[in-house]
Order: sequence, then C-alpha cells, then structure tokens
Amino acid sequence: MSKKQTIHVLGSGLVGSLLSIILAQKGFQVELYEARPDMRRADISGGRSINLVVTDRGLNALDRAGLRDKVMEIATPMKGRMLHDIKGETTFVPYGQKDNEVINAVSRGDLNCLLMDEAEARGDINIHFEKRCTGYDIKTKMLSFNDSEHVQTDIVMGADGAFSALRKAMLDQVMNFDYAQSFLDSGYKELVIPAGENGAFLMDDASLHIWPRGQYMLIAIPNIDCSFTCTLFFPFEGEESFAALKTTEDAAAFFKKTFPDALEIIPTLAEEFANNPVGSLVTVKCNPWHVDGQALLIGDAAHAIVPFFGQGMNCGFEDCRVLDDLLSGPDADWEAVFAAFNQERKANTDAIADMAIENYTEMRATTADPKFQLKKRVGFELEKRFPDRFIPRYSMVMFHPDMPYAEAKRLSEMQNEILNQLCVNITQPEDVDWTEAERLLVRK
Ligand SMILES: Cc1cc2nc3c(=O)[nH]c(=O)nc-3n(C[C@H](O)[C@H](O)[C@H](O)COP(=O)(O)OP(=O)(O)OC[C@H]3O[C@@H](n4cnc5c(N)ncnc54)[C@H](O)[C@@H]3O)c2cc1C
Repeated sequence: MSKKQTIHVLGSGLVGSLLSIILAQKGFQVELYEARPDMRRADISGGRSINLVVTDRGLNALDRAGLRDKVMEIATPMKGRMLHDIKGETTFVPYGQKDNEVINAVSRGDLNCLLMDEAEARGDINIHFEKRCTGYDIKTKMLSFNDSEHVQTDIVMGADGAFSALRKAMLDQVMNFDYAQSFLDSGYKELVIPAGENGAFLMDDASLHIWPRGQYMLIAIPNIDCSFTCTLFFPFEGEESFAALKTTEDAAAFFKKTFPDALEIIPTLAEEFANNPVGSLVTVKCNPWHVDGQALLIGDAAHAIVPFFGQGMNCGFEDCRVLDDLLSGPDADWEAVFAAFNQERKANTDAIADMAIENYTEMRATTADPKFQLKKRVGFELEKRFPDRFIPRYSMVMFHPDMPYAEAKRLSEMQNEILNQLCVNITQPEDVDWTEAERLLVRK
C-alpha cells in the first residue's frame, strides 16, 4: 500500500479541528499544530464561560463528519430575540416562523474539546500542542515553530485564526497579495448571569436576550448549566465607553442606569468587570487564499468577521463543507482545488462580512425601534403569502444553508426597498396593501 500523503494544519480551534477530520476522512494523514496548551487538560478559559451560536450552515458541515447529533446534545436552541427596554420590559421577536427555525447556543470550549476528541479518536490525526507556527518559507515549503523546530511540508493549511501566521507569511512573500483589516471602534467584555438558587435559568432560556441601547448593547446567551454568558459590546472611547468606566463603582452605576434588570442577576459584576479582558472586533479580507498547490488559508485566517450575525464559525465550517465537496480524495489536484475553493468562497465571505457589520447597527439600535419590529412582522407575512418570492434576510442566512451568502445579501437589498415602501405609512401588518406587495415582488 502506498503511504498516505500528510497535510499539516495550523490551529486546532473550531475550524482546524473539523477540517482535520474531513481531510482524514478523505484518506490523508493530518499533523495538527496548536499554539495553546491542550484545553482539555489545562484551564485556558480564565474561568469564563464563552458561548457561541451554531446555525444550519455549521450543522450541515458537521454532518460531513457525522457530528450534528453529538453537537446538538450540548446545545440550547433559541427561538428568537428577547428585547429588554430600559425599564426592564421585554418584547419577544421570533427568528423564524417554522418550528425548526431556531439557532443553537453552545459552549465554545465544549465544542472545541468535542471536535479535538473526535479528531484524535480516529488515529490518523496527531495534535501537537504548544506548537506556535512562527513562519513559513514558500520556496522551501518549511514551517518554523516557537521551539525552533522546522517541519518540511507538502501541503499546509492555515486555520490559525484572525491573526494567522500563515497569512502573515503569504503577505510577506506573495506578490500582489491583497490584505485589509479593520477594527470596530467598539470592543467587548464577557460577564456571567449564574443559574438561580434552585439551579434554574433566571430568564427565558429559549431566547437570545438583547438590551439594545443605540451606540452599544448587552446580549445574553444561555448555557446548558442554566447560566447565561453576557457580552457587553461597548465603545472603547467616549462619554459612554470602557475608558469612561474607570472603577467598579462606575460600572455598577452605569449598569444600574442602563441595564437595571440585568444588574439584578449579575451578582459578580464588579469583580468580572474589573478582571475580564476587553476584546477587539476585527474584519479581515485578503486575497488570494492560496499559494500554488501548497498552502491554503481557511476559516478566520482567510476571512475574520465581526460576530453580529453569529456566522464566523458557521462560515468557517461551511468552508470545510465546500472543501469536502471539491476534494475527490488522496489524488487531489491541489492547485485546482485551492483555486476553485477561493473562487467559490471569496464573494460569499465578503458578503457575510458586510452583513455582519450591518447587523451590528440593527442589533444595538434598530431592534428597539417599533418600525424594525413592524418590518420583521411584515417580512414574515410576505414569506407566508409569497413563499417562492420572499424569505427574510435573517432566515436566508440562518435557515437556508443552500443559499450562498452573496445571494442572500443581493436579495435582501431588494427586499429592504420593498419593506421600506410597504411600511412607510402604516403601524401594523394588517394595513399592508398586499396587492401592491405582490406587484412589487413580481417587478423586483
Ligand atoms: C465575541 C465573539 C462572539 C462570537 N460569536 C459567534 C457565534 O455566535 N457564531 C459564530 O459562528 N461565530 C462567532 N464568533 C466568531 C468565531 O469565534 C470565529 O469565527 C471562529 O472561532 C473561527 O474559528 P477558527 O478556527 O478559524 O479560528 P479560531 O477559533 O481563532 O482558532 C484558531 C486556532 O489557531 C490557534 N493558533 C493561532 N495562531 C497560531 C499559530 N501561529 N500556530 C498554531 N496555532 C495557532 C489558536 O490558538 C486557535 O486554537 C464570535 C467571535 C467573537 C469574538
């Protein structure tokens, strides 16, 4: 029997772990290099519980590794947004209108551990921890690591995240390599709402909770241990900003004024506000994602996006599904596969990057606007009445994984014009002129 070809993958995060399983299933030996210690043995969370949202695109990719059911066992489904106003009054706005139109909260750490367990259990994937890639020489196909080791590669794939070392090497060595990174002027801090005294959720657990406040917002996502992980998205500088909240007293006073109902259920606010770091929010766009048939960027390394559509990981998982489709097996023509992958994904990842930024404005500001809620309801009604002509944007991205992101963006721009026109002088969906609605839909 001929020896299996070895692929070197950088980063055993969410995308690198799933990618490795998919490559191994295709008949490759995978050597996976991870900068951090093994999170299953060392606590690298700093005691924080960070979660994220898995949606149909991510689940479709997990299907390729037979892992949908295992992931759903550790997930909490959410049916909609629960909007909290300044008085603590709540309004529920559903995400979709069919029973299966839900999104799923999952612990980032648990999901990553599950993927690494599954990868290692196969026997054809070796994970090397505390091996930070420090460079890659395109001419010699040589990887270098923090411990001064050098590894000769045939094929290397960089799933090493938003600040990828492989991407840096490409930026330095590939002619005409396009690269742009932009940071939001807001960052984020994670906080925890613990389970109640009897071990129950303190708020509705089938909702993603949002406290929209115009220039900033707080969100809370449920965990399977009945706690919630809260994230405050907040400007770095300015009158209301991380910089302005200098002491724990400042933070408590700000929460009392702005998120009073949340403050009541975050008993450790002062301690967490002081100790938890502020993260930045970056969008990265680059091109090309590959060099000859030898190196490929994937996941955040190729296209980091801001988290406001809950799609960064889902999009990275979708990368893995597309690569799975393009790879015939061990005799792959890598140059052709990488070029086709880049071609198929680039416009789509650019589209979700832009939609994610737009969704930041929607989540922090417009969700609280009655017009936003009206447009959501009219959108659902259009979908019911004209299912072949109208699917709301959120649904296209979250619940229609076969619809490319770029197509969802294109259609949603047209739909927004229609919704604006239909909702201009009305306050309830019952007042929509449905004949005019059909005329507009047919015309567009
Ligand atoms: C606040 C926040 C909330 C989010 N919520 C969601 C959500 O709800 N849904 C969603 O789909 N996405 C969400 N995302 C985005 C999501 O976290 C990322 O898109 C996803 O983690 C990308 O996976 P990745 O494997 O490409 O990169 P990463 O998860 O960053 O993994 C990269 C891995 O590579 C390792 N590494 C880095 N450098 C090196 C190196 N030089 N050598 C070796 N290893 C290296 C890292 O240690 C890490 O393990 C969120 C992001 C943020 C910031």
